[in-house]
Amino acid sequence: MSGQRTGLDGAFTVDVEDYFHVGAFTSVIDPADWSAFECRVERNTHAALEIAAQTNTRGTFFVLGWVAERYPQLIREIASAGHEIGCHSQNHQLVYELGPDRFRADLIESRDILQDTVGYAVRLYRSPSFSITNDSLWALEILIEEGFTTDSSIYPIRHDRYGIPTARLEPHVITTPSGPITEFPGMVCEWGTRVPVGGGGYLRLFPWWLTKRLLHRVRAQQRPLNVYIHPWEFDPDQPRVACSWKSRFRHYQNLKTTTPKMRALLQTFRLGTMSDVLAGMRLAGNESATSRAAATESAVDPSVLSETSPEVSV
Ligand SMILES: [Zn+2]
Repeated sequence: MSGQRTGLDGAFTVDVEDYFHVGAFTSVIDPADWSAFECRVERNTHAALEIAAQTNTRGTFFVLGWVAERYPQLIREIASAGHEIGCHSQNHQLVYELGPDRFRADLIESRDILQDTVGYAVRLYRSPSFSITNDSLWALEILIEEGFTTDSSIYPIRHDRYGIPTARLEPHVITTPSGPITEFPGMVCEWGTRVPVGGGGYLRLFPWWLTKRLLHRVRAQQRPLNVYIHPWEFDPDQPRVACSWKSRFRHYQNLKTTTPKMRALLQTFRLGTMSDVLAGMRLAGNESATSRAAATESAVDPSVLSETSPEVSV
């Protein structure tokens, strides 16, 4: 159930994008202007690869198609180091703002670029800014129709830009009219309330002792970890973008702490690729859930993601 068969505590994931792609800057940076910014994704992804190598960790790298188009060698380097390649969309647009048709086009474009780059099928997806919400659950059907088997886009918390506060906390199969898909949700620790932990701004914001305690608690709650980080978070010297105080706080707070915290995290917990973690869980008895999911004909609606829904099983 929690990856014990593989001996893994959870998944190490990296969303490969540059500092000017992030959701916090969409109101001040037009994607048409991206080429005018200094690209730092190559050297910063190397920082993530270095820490992974030092701690003998493999992970899942969700890559932006825009990055793969410009740095194909970097993506091949990630793959040849033993990491798994997933898709993080083409242009980092929020799913609930794209709508179904534009989402599908963006998905296909990025999937094909990534597949051409690494030479194998890309089956895992994470949306920009966890933007599969109650308003964009239709995206799961499109993911299945375009060949994806695993999604990691739903954050089971309340947040101003993303999240489904009632969604399940552990990896599970979601049934749609187009078939089943495995959801590996964003990580939270239940401690009176749902506390997001172990990724991005949450990792930078919390002191390491608190993160460590919360992650041990997630493991004690029998769930695999889902650690995520961005290459730009390893780069305290990145160019500053003029933006609101909230965006500044979310993007720049404690950038200097990313490297030591991530190193400590990967030394404390044994993390692997998302597929390896899920494979261990399937060995622990997920087959029946998959067959039950495949036999269910219910439509996707918010209730499907509730913790009590009979259509969703681990
Ligand atoms: Zn992203």
